Amino acid sequence: MPDRFPKGFDAHQHGLLRALYGDLVPPLDRIRVRAGWYRIVDQMFAQLGRLPDRRGFRVGRIEARNAGFLVIETSGLAAVAEEIVAQTKEAARHTCEHCGMPARLVIKVGLESLLTAPDVELGDRLLCVDCSHEFMKEIVHDDR
Ligand SMILES: [Zn+2]
Repeated sequence: MPDRFPKGFDAHQHGLLRALYGDLVPPLDRIRVRAGWYRIVDQMFAQLGRLPDRRGFRVGRIEARNAGFLVIETSGLAAVAEEIVAQTKEAARHTCEHCGMPARLVIKVGLESLLTAPDVELGDRLLCVDCSHEFMKEIVHDDR
């Protein structure tokens, strides 16, 4: 079974963000988060885009690295921008990577997961209770 929640970003939404905020928004292939975090990314750009003094401020890359850990690379300075970026990372620490609901559990996706789901991406994920149950059924090998 393919990984149902690959990292990436919605191309249509990316086009809209680009139209609204121009090169504040990195290229599509530099946004690597699962669907549950799309809204967090969206909200960050909406907030950054409203800053009056964002000249020269850019977001270079956004990437989910590990359970609940969102990397946001930026350049340039804007007074409130760093605070918005920090709030965005904080929001990721509480948000299910699959569905966007409040997250509770870290699911380990180790090599053994490949026995059941050969195409799943390895590495830990932060999920809500429902998504954890669903996802465990996909990745845990069960010989009973
Ligand atoms: Zn969920």
